[in-house]
Amino acid sequence: MKLQIKNTFINELPADPILENTRRQVENAVYSFVSPKKTSHPEVLHVSKEMAFELGISEEETRSEFFKNIVTGNEIFPKTQPFAMCYAGHQFGNWAGQLGDGRAINIFEIEQNSKNWKVQLKGAGETPYSRTADGLAVLRSSIREYLCSEAMFHLGVPTTRALSLSLSGDQVLRDVMYDGNPAYEKGAIVCRTAPSFLRFGNYEIFAARNDVKNLKTLVDYTLKNHFPHLGRPSKKSYLQFFKEVATRTLDTILHWQRVGFVHGVMNTDNMSILGLTIDYGPYGWLEDFDFGWTPNTTDRQHKRYRYGNQPNMGLWNLYQLANALYPLIEDAKPLEEILTQYPIDFEHKSLQMMRSKLGFVTIDTNDLKLVQELEDNLQLIPTDMTIFFRLLSDFKNHSLGLKNLESAFYNIDELTETVTMRWQTWFEKYEQRLQMESRSHSERKQQMDGVNPKYVLRNYMAQLAIEDADKGEYALIDNLFELLKKPYADQPKNHKWFAKRPDWAHEKIGCSMLSCSS
Ligand code: AMP
Ligand code: MG
Repeated sequence: MKLQIKNTFINELPADPILENTRRQVENAVYSFVSPKKTSHPEVLHVSKEMAFELGISEEETRSEFFKNIVTGNEIFPKTQPFAMCYAGHQFGNWAGQLGDGRAINIFEIEQNSKNWKVQLKGAGETPYSRTADGLAVLRSSIREYLCSEAMFHLGVPTTRALSLSLSGDQVLRDVMYDGNPAYEKGAIVCRTAPSFLRFGNYEIFAARNDVKNLKTLVDYTLKNHFPHLGRPSKKSYLQFFKEVATRTLDTILHWQRVGFVHGVMNTDNMSILGLTIDYGPYGWLEDFDFGWTPNTTDRQHKRYRYGNQPNMGLWNLYQLANALYPLIEDAKPLEEILTQYPIDFEHKSLQMMRSKLGFVTIDTNDLKLVQELEDNLQLIPTDMTIFFRLLSDFKNHSLGLKNLESAFYNIDELTETVTMRWQTWFEKYEQRLQMESRSHSERKQQMDGVNPKYVLRNYMAQLAIEDADKGEYALIDNLFELLKKPYADQPKNHKWFAKRPDWAHEKIGCSMLSCSS
């Protein structure tokens, strides 16, 4: 296996001089060198061929012993030095101090076809940042990250990617619901990739420690390697950098809103500086449309990271990043202007996104009202978001409107006269609004089907793959992986996945309830 290794991160940024792998506060450094843990019986369960191709790894090579050893941390690629990154973060609204890569180890950086990729193992053992935990990951959460990050990529949502999913061969002890019932589970390792894994928390940690020198070094590195179009480091380019991060953050969150993805833990340590979706933990997909829903039981009380609050939380996090960058800019006003612009851009872009979901290319002043009425209606009785929007592209006229969409309702008995009336009224308005559009039905359908996915990784689907995998059956991982490569296509042979959540999954751990413990 020949890889185009190119180490910008460790060559250009300061390393922790201490090489001991002990848990501690790490200062004056962006990362610590650390070696992945050797595992007893590593086994590669799945490889993303698309990602391997991007990295210049052939299909044959992915079947080799060497590949297996590299992606499970059992061998270190020649002339590379694995490391864990130091970052801090605000968790659930509170400053949490140093966090860092507690269960992620960066193995190397590749430059292939003019693209730079950082390659990281999640679950490869402890680091100086593991705090009270073990640095390991279990199969359940690894399947969820592996499948979802590649699915998001194919949905067109900015995201970190995944190269492989492997078993470590070791057992890991976990208390799934934090209720004093720990049990052993299969340990696993995801090899994930991104142009950068830098998070808001990487910048926050230096600002919190008044370490402006290292803050500047890291920001300058980020500009040079990831935002080269902004020019040389200066107060002006730092501001433009912040502006671009704000835009990318908002755009990614709007993609989440479009496809019904709820991240679950939007702490600043889980916010990518490139605006990528990062750290797939207790995430979930909206089934019945509900702005108040979060799959994360750790957040059950305040529901800070509920679906409808994600755009606000993006802004809250950007405030923390603005504070962190302030020492380099020393002028609050232009930073505030960018932050003030965010809600304005949100209103505008969010409406544009909803117009695309409804199949409008023209603009009408009543669109916002029509969208709000739709969102109210979707919450009258449990209504499946994915099915609703997908079937909407078949809409021809209001008299058939409700009939065609019946399969989106979870319980048809709840479709009372009042609910029916509300929908009738809305469909009449929708039909009228469509008359402003000049496109043919089939043109509109094609465009709508390109923004309203037919297949997403419903919470119960990942759970089925997990339950099979626990029994040693891995076929479903591959089936779902292949299905989710074409989320907007009709795929008649996969029609069974275009279905509402089954009843058994409604209140099941792993399906609608997930915790941060993984
Ligand atoms: P998360 O909620 O997954 O973003 O994790 C928050 C912090 O906890 C990060 O610094 C993680 O690296 C750390 N962490 C989570 N799980 C583990 C684990 N099993 N071992 C070590 N550190 C962990
Ligand atoms: Mg994290």
